[in-house]
Amino acid sequence: MFARTARRQLQSSTGLSCLARSFSSTAPVRADFTHVIIGGGVVGLSIARALASHNAAHNPSNTTLLLERHPHLGTETSSRNSEVIHGGLYYGPTSLKTRLCVAGREQLYAFCKAHAVPHRKTGKWVVAQDASQLESLHQIHETCARELVGVVPTRFVGKEEARRLEPGVRAHAGVLESPETGIVDSHALMVALRGLFEDEGGVVAVNSNVVGIEALRSSSPTSSNSNSNSSNPGSAGYRLTVRDSSTGEASSITTSTLINSAGLGAFAINNLILPPERHVRAYFAKGNYFSYAASAPRVSRLVYPVTPPGAGGLGTHLTLDMAGRVRFGPDVEWVTSPADLAVSAARLPAAIAEIRKYLPGIDVEALAPDYAGIRPKLRPAGAVGDGGKDKGKGDKGDKGGSGFVDFYIRKEDGYEGFVNLLGIESPGLTSCLAIGALVRDMLVGSARVEGSARL
Ligand SMILES: Cc1cc2nc3c(=O)[nH]c(=O)nc-3n(C[C@H](O)[C@H](O)[C@H](O)COP(=O)(O)OP(=O)(O)OC[C@H]3O[C@@H](n4cnc5c(N)ncnc54)[C@H](O)[C@@H]3O)c2cc1C
Repeated sequence: MFARTARRQLQSSTGLSCLARSFSSTAPVRADFTHVIIGGGVVGLSIARALASHNAAHNPSNTTLLLERHPHLGTETSSRNSEVIHGGLYYGPTSLKTRLCVAGREQLYAFCKAHAVPHRKTGKWVVAQDASQLESLHQIHETCARELVGVVPTRFVGKEEARRLEPGVRAHAGVLESPETGIVDSHALMVALRGLFEDEGGVVAVNSNVVGIEALRSSSPTSSNSNSNSSNPGSAGYRLTVRDSSTGEASSITTSTLINSAGLGAFAINNLILPPERHVRAYFAKGNYFSYAASAPRVSRLVYPVTPPGAGGLGTHLTLDMAGRVRFGPDVEWVTSPADLAVSAARLPAAIAEIRKYLPGIDVEALAPDYAGIRPKLRPAGAVGDGGKDKGKGDKGDKGGSGFVDFYIRKEDGYEGFVNLLGIESPGLTSCLAIGALVRDMLVGSARVEGSARL
């Protein structure tokens, strides 16, 4: 599939002779593609679309290829999440996660409206059951009011109002509302992004598993990229070995720039390219979801418990899908394999105990194992900050108590034209359009990233 699709596109865009060059044993004079993105999830799609759109407007001879190992796009983490458009409450005032979540949220609402992607600004409540949890809500509220003025609005909901609006929800100590939070149909979003990407000349190759990468050095003193150091790896582009997942056939292709947006597979891609001292270890935190088939108690907004600092997720929360169906999850279960996607039904009793704290009237008979997703983690912790105490210290907070770990998005030092994305867990869906724009600007502009996680 990969070879056929790429070959067809090359014939129509850059000519078959380019493909022939990719099979030579020396660095190619000109790469087959300008940009190759590994990973067809929502983030890879968004990056691919941003680059193709830039090319169409400014450099029509440039080409963009998106590689995905499965037969369909977006079947891993991008379709196994809560589909929440996050407000940006949790990640400290200066982190990359906050910056991209807030920008991405606004871009996503506008995109959904413009392209008829189903979405809804439902609002969300974070509910506290005791004084210590209430204290956490105050910290979040104060951080948002002081350091994220106007961009992350929050407000405390009075007891009377809370009882009136959500009589089924228990919040003994207090409710903090995030009015900007919403939900999105992630599948429809990916369909829209793919359509735009292909309309702008981009090529999608599914069943295309990247199994080998060689960073090529230019043998001539003058590289085609005038900003590049010709002795650096990547100065003559990258040669990828791509195995067709359906036939096992291997192909080789070259690209001037390479973007690693492979989600759970991104750690392995990192380790294929960078030297051993820059290898990363992956941690995987499964989140199990449980569906709810009863119509009572009726809830019309998202409800989250207060997240303990350093937790691997936000806590088993209540979300709604576009049809108004309630589901609960995700919990946090550390697993060793990124393929361990079966829902752990044995965790249902623990989930019920968590849900009952804020929804005491839940009908436990109506709960059933639904699906699971896996968070790609750079550390065995770290979904959220500590409500502002960390003041956006990013991954330094790892040692300081909160365990917060930021997104890792970098143009790798010493490797020309290689952008590496690691640990793109929540709020990656919310942030996808802002990440796409950032990576585009890193490759075709001069954007630098401050505050990314350190390895
Ligand atoms: C339980 C859970 C709940 C979440 N809830 C939310 C939420 O409510 N809101 C929010 O904003 N975010 C949420 N997230 C985060 C969000 O889902 C992710 O950040 C986002 O989907 C990541 O997209 P991606 O494209 O980086 O990764 P993926 O969707 O995993 O895509 C990566 C793709 O790369 C492909 N790939 C991997 N290796 C290779 C290879 N060698 N060759 C070719 N292809 C390869 C994979 O097959 C995959 O399709 C949640 C995540 C989880 C796990």
